[in-house]
Parts: sequence; C-alpha cells; structure tokens
Amino acid sequence: MLKVEGLRAGYGRLTALGGIDLAVGKGEIVFVVGPNGAGKSTLLKTISGLQAPFGGTITFNGKSIVGRAPEQLCREGLVLVPEGRSIFRTLSVEENLALGGMGRGDRAGVQRDVEGVLDTFPVLRARYKGIAGHLSGGEQQQLAIARAILQQPSLIMIDEPSLGLAPLIIDQVYESLRQLNKESGLTLLIVEQSTARILDLATHIYILRNGQVVLNARVDEIGSDEALEQAYFGYT
Ligand code: ATP
Repeated sequence: MLKVEGLRAGYGRLTALGGIDLAVGKGEIVFVVGPNGAGKSTLLKTISGLQAPFGGTITFNGKSIVGRAPEQLCREGLVLVPEGRSIFRTLSVEENLALGGMGRGDRAGVQRDVEGVLDTFPVLRARYKGIAGHLSGGEQQQLAIARAILQQPSLIMIDEPSLGLAPLIIDQVYESLRQLNKESGLTLLIVEQSTARILDLATHIYILRNGQVVLNARVDEIGSDEALEQAYFGYT
C-alpha cells in the first residue's frame, strides 16, 4: 500500500533521514520506534507531503506521491495525525468532528461516521458539546484520531499517540486503534519513542536510529518484549 525506498530528507545541510526503506501492507499495523531525534517525525512529515525529500521514492497504492500536497493525499486516503494532536481547542468536540468531515459531500455518510467514531470513543460522546481544550490529554488524542477517521483514510499515520498519556490511557487509545483496524480494516503507521505496549498491537516493527533503519521485523520474528528492548537499545 505504502512503499518508501531510499528516502533521504532533512533540514538545510542536516540529513535527518539517511536512506530509509519501509513498506506498509493493507490491514497492517506498522510501528516505527526510535529515540528522540531519530527522524521519526521527519519521516511522517515527508510521507504526508509537509516536507520535500532530498531523494528517494514514496509510492501509495502504486503511484508516486512525492511532491503532492497534504490535502491532496488526504483526499486519496493518506491522513496524518501530527504530534501534539492539532485539534481546535476553542471549538467543541462536535465542531472538531464536523471539520473532519468537511471535505465530504455526503452529509448522511458523515453523520453515520460520526456515530461510528462516537461508538469507538465513548468518552467523546460524553463530551460531545464540551470545549475540546477542556478535554484531558488522552481524550484530545482520541478526538484527533476520530477527526482523522472522518476524513475516510485507508491509511492513517499517527505521530506519538502515547505522548504525555498515563499507561492506562495509552492502553485505551491502543485498544481503539486495534478495534478500528479489526472492524474497518484501517491500515496504521504509528511512530513512538518507546517500545512499551506496542508488541500486542503491532504486526511489524521498524527501529530507527540516527536516520537509519536498524531493525525491520515482523512481530512474530521479534517474539518478546525483552528481545524488542534489546534491539532498541542496541545489544543485539
Ligand atoms: P522526537 O521524538 O523528538 O520528535 P524524532 O525521531 O521525531 O524525534 P525528528 O523530529 O524527525 O526526530 O528529528 C530528526 C533530526 O532533525 C534531529 O536531529 C532534529 O534535531 C532535526 N530537526 C527536526 N526538525 C527540524 C527543523 N525544523 N529544523 C532543523 N532541524 C530539525
């Protein structure tokens, strides 16, 4: 579905991605993990058209998407939930969700999908008329994901969904993602700093360090949290 080959990107003379190969198949849940500064956000920004690559190829459903604008990619089904969630804090939950469905012509379809995301994220139903800025961090993360779902993505990329959340809330957010993947076949590319909790959800894991992929493995090849941690900290 998504294929990245030899991707190089950076900022001025700084190379943040030194030739990345990555593939995401339909229905997969792929995690890219790596420490601060490894290049994870740069990777997602480059795929989603927010940043031009220095070189390499990016294809989505077989077509090159290098040089496409983010909104165009969004219409084609590739949607980014950026780090920091980017919800409209002064608007209500209802209004934030309405903005997610704004580019669509089918009002009945949007209404049905709003009901769907409220079933997936019950906490948003409870806070539907409330101001988004008053939601907790976990609730805001769920709202950002719900809003992205209303854009009808076939592949959704999420930058650090667990950032700043308590472990119990991370479990809830991950459980909703699992449900979306299972029930709607949504494909996920998720970036995280920590390997904690990801083994249960992921189908495939990449470890990124200094702009290079140092591990690329299916979850059944990794086996245990300990093995994943060892690879992450470079003891293997
Ligand atoms: P984090 O977990 O901190 O978000 P990351 O793995 O997402 O880290 P990136 O944000 O992609 O890493 O950063 C990769 C490299 O690019 C780092 O060396 C960082 O300092 C640098 N970098 C990131 N954004 C910019 C920018 N806007 N201008 C210049 N350098 C940047």
